[in-house]
Amino acid sequence: MSVNVRELLEKKCGNNIAACTDEQLYYGLLGIVKELAKKKESSEGKKKIYYISAEFLIGKLLSNNLINLGIYDEVASMLEQYGKDINLIEQVEPEPSLGNGGLGRLAACFLDSMATLGLNGDGIGLNYHFGLFLQSFENHLQKESKNPWIEADSWLTKTDVTYSIQFGGFTVQSRMYDLDVTGFENRTNKLHLFDIETVDESLVENGIGFNKHDICKNLTLFLYPDDSDDAGRMLRVYQQYFMVSNAARLILQECQAKGCNLYDLPEYAAIQINDTHPSMVIPELIRLLMEQGIRIHDAIEIVSKTCAYTNHTILAEALEKWPMDYLNRAVPQLMPIIRELDTIVKDKFEDRSVAIIDDGNLVHMANMDIHYGYSVNGVAYLHTEILKKNELNNFYKIYPEKFNNKTNGITFRRWLMHCNKGLKHYLDQLIGTEWHKDADQLEKLLAFAEDKNVLQKLLEIKKENKHVLAEYLKKTQGVEIDENSIFDIQVKRLHEYKRQQMNALYVIHKYLEIKEGKKPSTPITVIFGAKAAPAYVIAKDIIHLILCLQEVVNKDPEVSPYLKVIMVENYNVTKAEKLIPACDISEQISLASKEASGTGNMKFMLNGAVTLGTMDGANVEIADLVGEENIYVFGESSDTVIEHYEKADYVSKDYYDKEEEIKEAVDFIVSDIMLEVGQKENLERLYHELLNKDWFMTLLDYKDYAAKREEIYKDYEDRDAWAKKMLVNTAKAGFFSSDRTIAEYNKDIWKL
Ligand SMILES: *Cc1c(COP(=O)(O)O)cnc(C)c1O
Repeated sequence: MSVNVRELLEKKCGNNIAACTDEQLYYGLLGIVKELAKKKESSEGKKKIYYISAEFLIGKLLSNNLINLGIYDEVASMLEQYGKDINLIEQVEPEPSLGNGGLGRLAACFLDSMATLGLNGDGIGLNYHFGLFLQSFENHLQKESKNPWIEADSWLTKTDVTYSIQFGGFTVQSRMYDLDVTGFENRTNKLHLFDIETVDESLVENGIGFNKHDICKNLTLFLYPDDSDDAGRMLRVYQQYFMVSNAARLILQECQAKGCNLYDLPEYAAIQINDTHPSMVIPELIRLLMEQGIRIHDAIEIVSKTCAYTNHTILAEALEKWPMDYLNRAVPQLMPIIRELDTIVKDKFEDRSVAIIDDGNLVHMANMDIHYGYSVNGVAYLHTEILKKNELNNFYKIYPEKFNNKTNGITFRRWLMHCNKGLKHYLDQLIGTEWHKDADQLEKLLAFAEDKNVLQKLLEIKKENKHVLAEYLKKTQGVEIDENSIFDIQVKRLHEYKRQQMNALYVIHKYLEIKEGKKPSTPITVIFGAKAAPAYVIAKDIIHLILCLQEVVNKDPEVSPYLKVIMVENYNVTKAEKLIPACDISEQISLASKEASGTGNMKFMLNGAVTLGTMDGANVEIADLVGEENIYVFGESSDTVIEHYEKADYVSKDYYDKEEEIKEAVDFIVSDIMLEVGQKENLERLYHELLNKDWFMTLLDYKDYAAKREEIYKDYEDRDAWAKKMLVNTAKAGFFSSDRTIAEYNKDIWKL
């Protein structure tokens, strides 16, 4: 072993590894990894990228760090000699829930890729003590509680960087904590997480309730505190300003330490604004530059050459607009600057739709980013096209040169090398290890597309992964699933646009069919996993529907041998790592035009699942890459959907009246069978929503969806043909490596 982990571990754990508990070994390894990571820190490079994000969904770190330091296999086999299983040691680690979904996971993959490519780039975010909520199910309803993850001994390193952050009427003292970001066989970067000294965890009473007014005590308790009331929304403004004020101070301090004259800031720093949560970094940096004697118009120019914005959504309700009144109260020092930025825009452009402050005194954060950033990027080809042609067309006409696409990606270290060791080792054997650093090399697999032995082996690996998942679900949720069934999986945040409800309607249809005696040739296991935002009523009703179906379907002896429904509790990165390698069918069924990119779709593809999806987000690029035999596409196009919205001519009731199968499935939601296990209020509300509103057009695509799903189940029967589809999906996934994405960001935007 290049570094003697055995010796180090013996020293940490009292000379007898065999006698150590998994806890002792975990904390021992944690300390060793931190020391090894430190040796790879580097100050190389004049310019640095600062990736600011409200979320970093990093997942557990031990295995990933061991892989990236190049010592995973050695450490695992050394431990084995003492009868220790690294998988059990890893279970000791709590998963930090510093993110919500795809956007936060993307930020984590990007940090990994920056370090792996040797780029000087750090992340900046907040150190939420309880993260996003922890989800459990009670009476078929989602229950939220706090999700603590910070332990006395953890991956966090306390630094002596602190700042005084001024709010309207009071000041808080910040402190920076660092997490190491180990690159794969490359440098170590940092994720800087800011916190306050005065945070009070005891403020949280039952569930996730707490006094939202006491900012000095609650500022960094939760990610996305409930924003259904004024105090909750104000708290989000406080959090955002706290994040960016710390970030701006750190950036200026680091640049000045390198001898940067502040007029040359763009030569020392590129700031990527991940969605609109960090947008206030623009006025805050301008303010801080002015404090150092720079005139406002010069400061604006400097900042405009430093900041770049990534758009993640076209959902209007997700584009942040803060009332001026909130900003006046929370961050009055920013208002003169935001007003000036707005005045400049209004003097230049007649078009009110591009204003920063609208007629209702709302501050449009994305608009500020676009005017005062030098780059605006979407996150998949289709998404960027929709931004240019529709959602942000007025801006595109003004600044065509700012718009660019950066199709999302995932790190193959976590999403293949770590989570699917069986496939990783087989690939290494078959095509060598070059793909670890050059993901396009996975295409070498295509040479084996007709090789029966290879196809057989891929099926065996999948079967083993399904076995492992089945065991895990038995242990963690007490459910028995048939390892020989088709694993049909939809895991992602719960949102109506992602259309878990459409999947559920199909499950109802299948249930009714089986009851009538029409049995599938291969049993089907439909797996869901999703958290709903605590204030999102319909999303929680959809969870209720799925949980009720789970009970009805699984407890019916006529049906359950052929169909099972599983709702995985508290879907997170750790669960994703178990679910994705075991998946046969990847459900990516968002309403076309609504999913900006998706990254779950990429993880599934990489691990040899076949996609059943709409032409939305990065599914479009997946379809292009794998070809039509290797993906199952259904549903109306984004153009048609956008037209329906423009004309406001979609009426869900028409589809209900026209299609008997739809009517039966929708009616089943409020049938006696369901009302017996579920809550009338929730089921009826969802039923009426689907019938009278259905804003995300579930019923529009249902028929086509159900037909495709029959087709994919039928094609699953031909195992050789299926294995070939699996092979092509893995082979063509190289494009979705976040190393490719980050190389593009650097070439086109950051230019380090
Ligand atoms: C990848 C990932 C997501 C994003 O999934 P999408 O299907 O792209 O929405 C969400 N949550 C977790 C835990 C993930 O790993």
